[in-house]
Amino acid sequence: MTDCLFCSIATGETAAARVLESPRTIAFRDISPQAPTHVLVIPKDHYPDLAALAGAGAGLLDEVAAQAHRVAVAAGVDGTGYRVIFNTGPQAGQTVQHVHAHVLGGRAMAWPPG
Ligand code: 5GP
Ligand code: ZN
Repeated sequence: MTDCLFCSIATGETAAARVLESPRTIAFRDISPQAPTHVLVIPKDHYPDLAALAGAGAGLLDEVAAQAHRVAVAAGVDGTGYRVIFNTGPQAGQTVQHVHAHVLGGRAMAWPPG
């Protein structure tokens, strides 16, 4: 999709600190980390939000979720715990309209979230 920041990161046109890749996903560090580990996992193809990703079928949502876990393992936070968040829509604070899973870890996190 044209004019999509995360499509541009997926193609390599825009630089990002990549940490993992799978056939249909990439994971890269958030530019404004909210925890010691803060990585975004995206499908390479453009889906605007979680509903679209879930509707894609063919195991794509599974692949994103599995990669989120692999990011946590690679960062060494799977034992202490980590959080996976899909901000969806304006009230949840979604600012980039290309679906992404935030993987956060490395510190204690409050519940419920703010
Ligand atoms: P959202 O608010 O949509 O859930 O999350 C978007 C995330 O993308 C934010 O945490 C923000 O810091 C991150 N972000 C925005 N622009 C860039 C960028 O150019 N590069 C990287 N690596 N992350 C970005
Ligand atoms: Zn996109």
